[in-house]
Amino acid sequence: MPDAGRPLQRFPGVLVIGGGPAGLMAAEAARRAGVEVDLLEAKPTVGRKFLIAGRGGMNLTHSDPRPRFEQRYTRGASEVAHWLDGFDAMALREWARGLGVETFVGSSGRVFPVDMKSAPLLRAWVARLKQEGVRLHMRERWLGFDPAGHALVEGPAGTRAIEAGAVVLALGGGSWPQLGSDAAWMPWLSARGVPTVPLEASNCGFDVGWSEHLVAKFAGAALKPIAVQWSDAAGRMRRQQGECVLTATGLEGSLLYAIGADLRTSIARDGTALLQLDLLPGVPDERVRSALLAGRDGRSLSEVLRRRLKLDGAKAALLREVLSAGTLGDPVALADAIKALPIRLRASRPLAEAISSAGGIALAGVDRRLMLRALPGWFACGEMLDWDAPTGGYLLTACFASGLHAGRAAAMHALGV
Ligand SMILES: Cc1cc2nc3c(=O)[nH]c(=O)nc-3n(C[C@H](O)[C@H](O)[C@H](O)COP(=O)(O)OP(=O)(O)OC[C@H]3O[C@@H](n4cnc5c(N)ncnc54)[C@H](O)[C@@H]3O)c2cc1C
Repeated sequence: MPDAGRPLQRFPGVLVIGGGPAGLMAAEAARRAGVEVDLLEAKPTVGRKFLIAGRGGMNLTHSDPRPRFEQRYTRGASEVAHWLDGFDAMALREWARGLGVETFVGSSGRVFPVDMKSAPLLRAWVARLKQEGVRLHMRERWLGFDPAGHALVEGPAGTRAIEAGAVVLALGGGSWPQLGSDAAWMPWLSARGVPTVPLEASNCGFDVGWSEHLVAKFAGAALKPIAVQWSDAAGRMRRQQGECVLTATGLEGSLLYAIGADLRTSIARDGTALLQLDLLPGVPDERVRSALLAGRDGRSLSEVLRRRLKLDGAKAALLREVLSAGTLGDPVALADAIKALPIRLRASRPLAEAISSAGGIALAGVDRRLMLRALPGWFACGEMLDWDAPTGGYLLTACFASGLHAGRAAAMHALGV
């Protein structure tokens, strides 16, 4: 029963709540399965995070072969693999082509639209969704449940309860809340018996705590190439090469995103995570040593580092920041430090700044169709589910694939199949 005086609106088909990539894909899949689809979005426009994701080059997916692709998911890999069976990276590229957007594989294996942008793809997609009969309703915010368990929605026409054939929740995670995904849904679902895992920042920077001098001169400087050594969740020493940026508070960038899950585990367990930075990954230890042992010939240390090892700028500043005068003056100790500079990470940056979040609806709380076990007829997809992956296109791919999976299943539910 709706609240006294509050109207109850009935949608016979599928109601999708949330207009990010997962929700839009759920809407498309449900509509193509032959049901009426209404999509509610709290913001004035859909796909705001998707558009921001395109700002630095829209990384849609990755060209990794399938087994490797699945291994990139540091949480929920087997569930994601099941969604990918229905819509993998190749299918995603085909789908983009269907919207007039050709893609290419970059040197890192990442897949981008030829123009690197997200706006043309989103524009074409929204136009096609409307043409296919998906009804998009903006400025409509889901507020949880009325006492009868219907969706409670606040919009330009006021607050009302909605009963639908099936509901797909696609509300996103908790990062960049200004773009719409504010995770307000977590307590509402928990109160209805849906198991949730606290949200945590993923694909984020880490705090180190630099001196004012380093921040003033080098915040924003790229460290590339470098390699890092760290201890993984099982305590094994690992090494990976890549690049990162020296920030005002610490370090950030694709290399740290790739190993972030291990770093977060270490910080949660030990209070800090230790990284060893190899500032010259292409140069053998022996060469670094001999370059420094050859004496300075009256040159300053900075000059020696720059001329003989091509080590300058932010990398040299980092050595001065971390090492004692004694180590800087000892060629052997300095050579060792250049190849394994200890940096202690104290904390990850706040969730609101992160590219994505881990945590959300526990995967044990949904069945194979992505229907919430505690709420029959209610499905969930996208970043609000508890899976995790580094950047590289894996995030969007899982959002699209889970959206398609949930949308199809919700349509079947609404049709009573
Ligand atoms: C800066 C940045 C760069 C990124 N770059 C990449 C990249 O290159 N490649 C990649 O794979 N991933 C990237 N990502 C991550 C990717 O954008 C997200 O993983 C993806 O957008 C999540 O999709 P989603 O549909 O689950 O949620 P979202 O995109 O967050 O969409 C959720 C939608 O639900 C709406 N909503 C929330 N609550 C309510 C409510 N109560 N009622 C109604 N509507 C509601 C929100 O307004 C929003 O529109 C990036 C993210 C950021 C922040």
